[in-house]
Amino acid sequence: MQESVLVNVGFFTKPCVVLVCLCGVHLIVALFFYLTESTTKLTNYRKVQLDSDIFTSQTHRTAALVIQYDNGTEVEVNKLIYSNGSVIKDDVEEEPTVLESCPETSPLLVGPMRVEFSEPVNLDMVRKGNPQLGMGGRYKPNDCVALQKVAIIIPFRNRGEHLKYWLHYLHPILQRQQLDYGIYVIQQDGEGTFNRAKLLNVGYVEALKEYDYDCFVFSDVDIIPMDDRNTYKCSSQPRHLSVSMDKFGFRLPYKQYFGGVSAMSKEQFQKINGFPNNYWGWGGEDDDIFNRLVFQGMKISRPSGDMGKCRMIRHSRDKKNEPNPQRFRRISHTRQTMKTDGIKSLSYKVVDIEKDLLYTQITVDIGKP
Ligand code: BGC
Repeated sequence: MQESVLVNVGFFTKPCVVLVCLCGVHLIVALFFYLTESTTKLTNYRKVQLDSDIFTSQTHRTAALVIQYDNGTEVEVNKLIYSNGSVIKDDVEEEPTVLESCPETSPLLVGPMRVEFSEPVNLDMVRKGNPQLGMGGRYKPNDCVALQKVAIIIPFRNRGEHLKYWLHYLHPILQRQQLDYGIYVIQQDGEGTFNRAKLLNVGYVEALKEYDYDCFVFSDVDIIPMDDRNTYKCSSQPRHLSVSMDKFGFRLPYKQYFGGVSAMSKEQFQKINGFPNNYWGWGGEDDDIFNRLVFQGMKISRPSGDMGKCRMIRHSRDKKNEPNPQRFRRISHTRQTMKTDGIKSLSYKVVDIEKDLLYTQITVDIGKP
């Protein structure tokens, strides 16, 4: 009896041993995977393409991120990043890159605006008020593709106060106009006689080194539009924008007037060999530009007097920008001089480039008369 019990126990012992062994193997395998898993656990990630062009919208954007594991491996994934910076979701499907074109007339425009220069402007406030700007005073809409890439060129020297007003008023306007734009302040180095048109030529060349602009707006630093429907963009003909200035009683001082603020496409600018380089001191260069356009068979396009209203900041005449006595003689020779004097013969030296959030300032040595 006792013998048969012992036999039966022996019969069950073998499967038990096998089972225990299998459990042991299973435990070892599980332990192995657990340990290797924990050594590759996520420790940190870094953004490799924060300003991703994969997709952006008002509230979030996807960006490629590199996930780094403890064991040194790196994996690239797409993340959804919300505007407050938090990373919400992994492996977001790439959204389509193609945005629609912005409409011909921006729905964001407000029309006539109050423009005044009684309160001083604080540039830090302007920076805070324009959170969408990129370094150098760059902007493009994030929900549609701007119709034009516009470089705004401002000839400049010793007018810091005026520039503050200009930036304060113009950035919000240009954003409402849904433009892809950049601001270039071209500062004449030294104390020599001022040369507005040559500085504008420099601005054209320097802006094109940065971005494929197709439109150029040339603006004096002291002129502010009073209606945002006066869009700072180019049209099929060269466009004069400051057509109705307070300084001139809200009308053109004369029919051929092309000073203040004007816009020209790259093609239009090249067709006239850019602007003259040899108008030193105040006056005449804008009349020469007008002549160039007419001699190349172009007509001036303008907004209505109502939309084209603008204000000029009152100031005394700048030193070293006295009226140029040679201007009348020069204007009468535009047809001959424009062939050789212009963007093709431009020479200058860049002294300094400063990038602010609100503008790019390029200081240049343009020589002297
Ligand atoms: C000058 C221009 C100037 C205009 C308006 C003309 O006599 O030649 O350069 O823009 O007056 O002030």
